[in-house]
Amino acid sequence: AGAFLSVRDLHVRFTTEDGIVKAVDGLSFDLERGKTLGIVGESGSGKSVTNLTILGLHNPQFARIEGEIVLDGQELITAREPELEKLRGNKMAMIFQDPLTALSPYYTVGRQLSEPFMKHTGASRKEAKDRAVQMLEKVGIPQPKVRFDDYPHQFSGGMRQRAMIAMALMCDPDLLIADEPTTALDVTVQAQILDLLKDLQQEFGSAIIFITHDLGVISNMADDLLVMYAGRAVERGSVKEVLRTPRHPYTWGLLSSMPRLDGDIHQELTPIPGSPPSLLTPPSGCPFHPRCAFKDQVPDSLCTDVRPPLDEGRAAACHLTDEQKQTIFIDEIQPR
Ligand code: SF4
Ligand code: MG
Repeated sequence: AGAFLSVRDLHVRFTTEDGIVKAVDGLSFDLERGKTLGIVGESGSGKSVTNLTILGLHNPQFARIEGEIVLDGQELITAREPELEKLRGNKMAMIFQDPLTALSPYYTVGRQLSEPFMKHTGASRKEAKDRAVQMLEKVGIPQPKVRFDDYPHQFSGGMRQRAMIAMALMCDPDLLIADEPTTALDVTVQAQILDLLKDLQQEFGSAIIFITHDLGVISNMADDLLVMYAGRAVERGSVKEVLRTPRHPYTWGLLSSMPRLDGDIHQELTPIPGSPPSLLTPPSGCPFHPRCAFKDQVPDSLCTDVRPPLDEGRAAACHLTDEQKQTIFIDEIQPR
Protein backbone atom coordinates (compact mmCIF):
# COMPACT_ATOMS: atom_id res chain seq x y z
CA ALA A 1 0.00 0.00 0.00
CA GLY A 2 1.33 3.45 -0.94
CA ALA A 3 1.12 6.68 0.99
CA PHE A 4 -2.24 8.28 1.73
CA LEU A 5 -1.50 10.83 -0.99
CA SER A 6 1.08 9.86 -3.57
CA VAL A 7 2.13 12.14 -6.44
CA ARG A 8 4.44 10.56 -9.01
CA ASP A 9 6.24 12.23 -11.90
CA LEU A 10 3.53 14.85 -12.30
CA HIS A 11 3.71 17.05 -15.39
CA VAL A 12 1.30 19.92 -16.01
CA ARG A 13 1.61 21.82 -19.27
CA PHE A 14 -0.56 24.73 -20.36
CA THR A 15 -1.13 25.79 -23.91
CA THR A 16 -0.90 29.57 -24.15
CA GLU A 17 -0.78 32.04 -27.03
CA ASP A 18 2.98 32.18 -26.59
CA GLY A 19 3.58 28.45 -26.48
CA ILE A 20 3.63 25.59 -23.99
CA VAL A 21 4.20 26.49 -20.34
CA LYS A 22 5.75 23.69 -18.29
CA ALA A 23 4.14 24.66 -15.00
CA VAL A 24 4.95 21.41 -13.21
CA ASP A 25 7.82 19.36 -14.55
CA GLY A 26 8.24 15.91 -13.02
CA LEU A 27 7.10 16.32 -9.42
CA SER A 28 6.87 13.47 -6.89
CA PHE A 29 5.96 13.47 -3.21
CA ASP A 30 4.09 11.50 -0.54
CA LEU A 31 1.89 12.63 2.31
CA GLU A 32 0.48 10.57 5.20
CA ARG A 33 -2.69 11.14 7.24
CA GLY A 34 -2.31 13.52 10.14
CA LYS A 35 0.83 15.05 8.63
CA THR A 36 1.49 18.45 7.12
CA LEU A 37 3.61 18.94 4.04
CA GLY A 38 4.83 22.49 3.50
CA ILE A 39 5.50 23.61 -0.06
CA VAL A 40 7.61 26.74 -0.52
CA GLY A 41 8.94 28.57 -3.52
CA GLU A 42 8.58 31.90 -5.32
CA SER A 43 5.44 32.61 -7.30
CA GLY A 44 5.41 30.69 -10.53
CA SER A 45 7.30 27.78 -8.98
CA GLY A 46 4.35 25.46 -9.50
CA LYS A 47 3.00 25.28 -5.93
CA SER A 48 -0.51 26.45 -6.65
CA VAL A 49 -0.76 24.64 -9.98
CA THR A 50 0.16 21.38 -8.25
CA ASN A 51 -2.64 21.77 -5.77
CA LEU A 52 -5.25 22.82 -8.28
CA THR A 53 -4.24 19.70 -10.20
CA ILE A 54 -4.77 17.48 -7.16
CA LEU A 55 -8.21 19.02 -6.77
CA GLY A 56 -8.94 18.45 -10.46
CA LEU A 57 -9.65 22.13 -11.08
CA HIS A 58 -7.87 22.60 -14.40
CA ASN A 59 -9.69 23.01 -17.67
CA PRO A 60 -8.64 19.97 -19.74
CA GLN A 61 -8.89 22.14 -22.84
CA PHE A 62 -5.82 24.11 -21.76
CA ALA A 63 -3.97 21.81 -19.40
CA ARG A 64 -2.15 18.60 -20.27
CA ILE A 65 -1.62 16.52 -17.18
CA GLU A 66 0.57 13.43 -16.98
CA GLY A 67 1.79 11.25 -14.15
CA GLU A 68 0.01 9.80 -11.14
CA ILE A 69 -1.93 11.29 -8.26
CA VAL A 70 -3.32 8.62 -5.94
CA LEU A 71 -5.43 9.64 -2.95
CA ASP A 72 -6.30 6.82 -0.56
CA GLY A 73 -5.97 4.27 -3.35
CA GLN A 74 -7.91 6.26 -5.92
CA GLU A 75 -6.26 7.62 -9.06
CA LEU A 76 -7.28 11.27 -9.57
CA ILE A 77 -5.80 12.24 -12.94
CA THR A 78 -7.97 9.81 -14.82
CA ALA A 79 -11.03 10.37 -12.60
CA ARG A 80 -14.04 11.93 -14.26
CA GLU A 81 -15.50 15.25 -13.22
CA PRO A 82 -18.54 13.92 -11.29
CA GLU A 83 -16.22 11.65 -9.32
CA LEU A 84 -13.85 14.56 -8.61
CA GLU A 85 -16.72 16.75 -7.56
CA LYS A 86 -17.78 14.10 -5.08
CA LEU A 87 -14.23 13.87 -3.74
CA ARG A 88 -14.04 17.65 -3.40
CA GLY A 89 -17.18 17.55 -1.31
CA ASN A 90 -16.25 14.58 0.86
CA LYS A 91 -12.54 13.90 0.95
CA MET A 92 -10.59 16.98 -0.02
CA ALA A 93 -11.10 20.65 0.64
CA MET A 94 -9.19 23.82 -0.03
CA ILE A 95 -8.62 26.99 1.95
CA PHE A 96 -7.68 29.91 -0.25
CA GLN A 97 -5.71 33.05 0.48
CA ASP A 98 -8.72 35.24 -0.15
CA PRO A 99 -11.98 34.06 1.43
CA LEU A 100 -13.93 36.08 -1.10
CA THR A 101 -12.84 33.65 -3.83
CA ALA A 102 -14.61 30.90 -1.89
CA LEU A 103 -17.51 32.80 -0.33
CA SER A 104 -20.19 34.34 -2.51
CA PRO A 105 -21.43 37.79 -1.48
CA TYR A 106 -24.99 36.89 -2.47
CA TYR A 107 -25.78 34.14 0.01
CA THR A 108 -25.62 33.93 3.78
CA VAL A 109 -22.59 32.25 5.29
CA GLY A 110 -24.84 29.59 6.76
CA ARG A 111 -26.39 28.72 3.45
CA GLN A 112 -22.96 28.45 1.81
CA LEU A 113 -21.86 26.04 4.50
CA SER A 114 -24.96 23.90 4.63
CA GLU A 115 -26.07 23.53 1.01
CA PRO A 116 -23.00 21.73 -0.35
CA PHE A 117 -23.13 19.52 2.73
CA MET A 118 -26.73 18.56 2.05
CA LYS A 119 -25.90 17.88 -1.57
CA HIS A 120 -22.89 15.69 -0.82
CA THR A 121 -24.17 13.79 2.20
CA GLY A 122 -27.93 13.75 1.70
CA ALA A 123 -28.33 15.39 5.12
CA SER A 124 -31.56 17.25 5.91
CA ARG A 125 -31.65 21.05 6.13
CA LYS A 126 -31.82 20.83 9.90
CA GLU A 127 -28.86 18.42 10.13
CA ALA A 128 -26.82 20.59 7.79
CA LYS A 129 -27.59 23.70 9.81
CA ASP A 130 -26.64 22.00 13.06
CA ARG A 131 -23.38 20.89 11.52
CA ALA A 132 -22.64 24.37 10.13
CA VAL A 133 -23.33 26.05 13.47
CA GLN A 134 -21.11 23.49 15.15
CA MET A 135 -18.28 24.17 12.67
CA LEU A 136 -18.65 27.96 12.99
CA GLU A 137 -18.38 27.54 16.73
CA LYS A 138 -15.36 25.30 16.33
CA VAL A 139 -13.47 27.92 14.32
CA GLY A 140 -14.24 30.54 16.94
CA ILE A 141 -17.09 32.55 15.44
CA PRO A 142 -19.00 34.12 18.34
CA GLN A 143 -22.77 33.55 18.46
CA PRO A 144 -22.64 31.07 15.59
CA LYS A 145 -26.42 30.54 15.55
CA VAL A 146 -26.95 34.25 14.91
CA ARG A 147 -23.99 34.69 12.54
CA PHE A 148 -25.25 31.73 10.49
CA ASP A 149 -27.71 34.15 8.86
CA ASP A 150 -25.12 36.88 8.14
CA TYR A 151 -23.68 37.64 4.72
CA PRO A 152 -19.89 37.51 4.24
CA HIS A 153 -19.64 41.34 4.16
CA GLN A 154 -20.99 41.41 7.72
CA PHE A 155 -17.93 39.44 8.84
CA SER A 156 -14.47 40.92 9.48
CA GLY A 157 -11.55 39.67 7.36
CA GLY A 158 -10.40 37.30 10.10
CA MET A 159 -13.93 35.97 10.58
CA ARG A 160 -14.36 35.38 6.85
CA GLN A 161 -11.13 33.39 6.91
CA ARG A 162 -12.51 31.35 9.80
CA ALA A 163 -15.80 30.87 7.98
CA MET A 164 -13.89 29.55 4.97
CA ILE A 165 -12.03 27.11 7.20
CA ALA A 166 -15.39 26.05 8.67
CA MET A 167 -16.64 25.53 5.12
CA ALA A 168 -13.60 23.40 4.27
CA LEU A 169 -14.17 21.33 7.41
CA MET A 170 -17.88 20.72 6.88
CA CYS A 171 -17.15 17.48 5.08
CA ASP A 172 -14.46 16.36 7.54
CA PRO A 173 -11.83 16.26 4.78
CA ASP A 174 -9.04 13.72 4.78
CA LEU A 175 -6.94 16.08 2.71
CA LEU A 176 -6.90 19.81 3.31
CA ILE A 177 -5.04 22.11 0.96
CA ALA A 178 -4.24 25.53 2.36
CA ASP A 179 -2.83 28.01 -0.16
CA GLU A 180 -1.37 31.05 1.61
CA PRO A 181 -4.32 30.87 4.02
CA THR A 182 -3.23 33.64 6.36
CA THR A 183 -1.20 35.99 4.17
CA ALA A 184 -3.84 38.71 4.14
CA LEU A 185 -4.35 38.73 7.91
CA ASP A 186 -2.65 40.68 10.67
CA VAL A 187 -0.11 38.80 12.76
CA THR A 188 -2.36 38.14 15.75
CA VAL A 189 -5.24 36.75 13.73
CA GLN A 190 -2.75 34.80 11.62
CA ALA A 191 -1.36 33.10 14.72
CA GLN A 192 -4.88 32.27 15.94
CA ILE A 193 -5.85 30.74 12.62
CA LEU A 194 -2.67 28.66 12.43
CA ASP A 195 -3.27 27.35 15.95
CA LEU A 196 -6.81 26.57 14.98
CA LEU A 197 -5.67 24.60 11.93
CA LYS A 198 -3.29 22.58 14.07
CA ASP A 199 -5.99 21.81 16.64
CA LEU A 200 -8.43 20.79 13.95
CA GLN A 201 -5.82 18.55 12.37
CA GLN A 202 -5.32 16.85 15.72
CA GLU A 203 -9.04 16.34 16.06
CA PHE A 204 -9.81 15.22 12.50
CA GLY A 205 -6.50 13.61 11.53
CA SER A 206 -6.48 15.36 8.16
CA ALA A 207 -3.43 15.43 5.94
CA ILE A 208 -2.58 19.05 5.11
CA ILE A 209 -0.68 20.58 2.22
CA PHE A 210 0.37 24.03 3.30
CA ILE A 211 1.58 26.43 0.64
CA THR A 212 3.29 29.64 1.63
CA HIS A 213 6.03 32.16 0.94
CA ASP A 214 6.60 32.48 4.66
CA LEU A 215 9.28 30.17 6.05
CA GLY A 216 8.49 31.31 9.59
CA VAL A 217 4.93 30.07 9.22
CA ILE A 218 6.05 26.84 7.62
CA SER A 219 8.54 26.04 10.39
CA ASN A 220 5.60 26.27 12.75
CA MET A 221 3.10 24.27 10.75
CA ALA A 222 4.78 21.59 8.67
CA ASP A 223 6.35 18.21 9.36
CA ASP A 224 8.02 17.87 5.98
CA LEU A 225 9.05 20.47 3.48
CA LEU A 226 9.23 20.51 -0.28
CA VAL A 227 11.08 23.38 -1.93
CA MET A 228 9.94 24.06 -5.49
CA TYR A 229 11.68 25.95 -8.24
CA ALA A 230 10.60 26.29 -11.86
CA GLY A 231 7.99 23.55 -11.61
CA ARG A 232 10.30 21.05 -9.93
CA ALA A 233 11.01 19.90 -6.40
CA VAL A 234 14.60 20.92 -5.68
CA GLU A 235 14.83 19.92 -2.02
CA ARG A 236 12.93 17.69 0.36
CA GLY A 237 13.27 16.71 4.02
CA SER A 238 11.83 17.24 7.46
CA VAL A 239 11.10 20.92 8.03
CA LYS A 240 13.81 21.10 10.70
CA GLU A 241 16.46 19.53 8.48
CA VAL A 242 15.72 21.70 5.50
CA LEU A 243 15.56 24.97 7.42
CA ARG A 244 18.58 24.26 9.63
CA THR A 245 20.86 22.58 7.13
CA PRO A 246 19.70 23.31 3.59
CA ARG A 247 21.45 21.31 0.88
CA HIS A 248 20.33 23.16 -2.22
CA PRO A 249 21.69 26.57 -3.26
CA TYR A 250 18.16 27.82 -3.94
CA THR A 251 16.92 26.88 -0.45
CA TRP A 252 19.98 28.50 1.02
CA GLY A 253 19.19 31.64 -1.01
CA LEU A 254 15.59 31.66 0.22
CA LEU A 255 16.71 31.34 3.82
CA SER A 256 19.30 34.08 3.43
CA SER A 257 16.73 36.42 1.96
CA MET A 258 14.28 36.29 4.84
CA PRO A 259 14.42 37.93 8.25
CA ARG A 260 15.79 35.76 11.01
CA LEU A 261 13.21 34.31 13.33
CA ASP A 262 15.40 35.43 16.24
CA GLY A 263 14.51 38.93 15.13
CA ASP A 264 17.76 40.76 14.41
CA ILE A 265 16.12 43.78 12.83
CA HIS A 266 19.43 45.18 11.62
CA GLN A 267 20.14 42.22 9.46
CA GLU A 268 20.27 43.11 5.80
CA LEU A 269 18.25 40.94 3.47
CA THR A 270 20.05 39.58 0.46
CA PRO A 271 17.57 38.59 -2.19
CA ILE A 272 18.61 35.90 -4.64
CA PRO A 273 19.98 37.75 -7.68
CA GLY A 274 18.03 37.37 -10.90
CA SER A 275 14.45 36.22 -11.27
CA PRO A 276 12.70 32.88 -11.76
CA PRO A 277 13.00 31.53 -15.30
CA SER A 278 10.31 31.64 -17.94
CA LEU A 279 8.46 28.35 -17.96
CA LEU A 280 7.94 28.77 -21.72
CA THR A 281 11.68 28.33 -22.22
CA PRO A 282 13.07 26.79 -19.03
CA PRO A 283 16.88 26.71 -18.71
CA SER A 284 18.71 23.55 -19.74
CA GLY A 285 20.27 21.30 -17.11
CA CYS A 286 19.63 22.60 -13.61
CA PRO A 287 16.85 25.21 -13.82
CA PHE A 288 18.56 27.27 -11.10
CA HIS A 289 21.89 27.56 -12.94
CA PRO A 290 21.40 31.13 -14.27
CA ARG A 291 21.12 32.37 -10.67
CA CYS A 292 23.36 29.94 -8.83
CA ALA A 293 26.43 31.18 -6.95
CA PHE A 294 27.81 27.65 -6.57
CA LYS A 295 27.88 26.32 -10.11
CA ASP A 296 31.63 27.04 -10.45
CA GLN A 297 32.20 24.29 -7.89
CA VAL A 298 30.69 21.68 -10.19
CA PRO A 299 32.90 20.31 -13.00
CA ASP A 300 32.21 19.65 -16.67
CA SER A 301 29.27 22.05 -17.33
CA LEU A 302 27.05 19.53 -15.56
CA CYS A 303 24.95 22.39 -14.21
CA THR A 304 24.07 23.77 -17.63
CA ASP A 305 23.78 20.42 -19.41
CA VAL A 306 22.39 17.75 -17.11
CA ARG A 307 19.19 17.86 -15.10
CA PRO A 308 20.02 16.91 -11.50
CA PRO A 309 17.62 14.25 -10.13
CA LEU A 310 15.92 14.45 -6.74
CA ASP A 311 16.58 11.23 -4.84
CA GLU A 312 14.13 9.66 -2.38
CA GLY A 313 14.00 10.82 1.25
CA ARG A 314 16.15 13.71 2.43
CA ALA A 315 17.54 15.04 -0.83
CA ALA A 316 18.53 18.03 -2.93
CA ALA A 317 18.43 18.06 -6.73
CA CYS A 318 21.89 19.51 -7.27
CA HIS A 319 25.16 18.32 -8.79
CA LEU A 320 27.27 19.37 -5.81
CA THR A 321 28.71 16.31 -4.06
CA ASP A 322 27.01 15.02 -0.91
CA GLU A 323 29.92 16.31 1.10
CA GLN A 324 29.67 19.77 -0.45
CA LYS A 325 25.92 19.86 0.18
CA GLN A 326 26.46 19.00 3.82
CA THR A 327 29.24 21.49 4.48
CA ILE A 328 29.04 24.36 2.04
CA PHE A 329 26.08 26.19 3.59
CA ILE A 330 26.67 25.43 7.25
CA ASP A 331 28.48 28.63 8.22
CA GLU A 332 25.93 30.76 6.49
CA ILE A 333 22.77 29.76 8.31
CA GLN A 334 22.18 30.53 11.97
CA PRO A 335 20.13 28.06 13.98
CA ARG A 336 16.52 29.12 13.77
FE1 SF4 B 1 23.75 25.31 -8.62
FE2 SF4 B 1 24.67 23.40 -10.23
FE3 SF4 B 1 23.49 22.74 -7.95
FE4 SF4 B 1 22.06 23.75 -9.95
S1 SF4 B 1 23.15 21.80 -9.95
S2 SF4 B 1 21.91 24.31 -7.83
S3 SF4 B 1 23.49 25.22 -10.83
S4 SF4 B 1 25.40 23.88 -8.18
MG1 MG C 1 0.19 30.81 -5.52
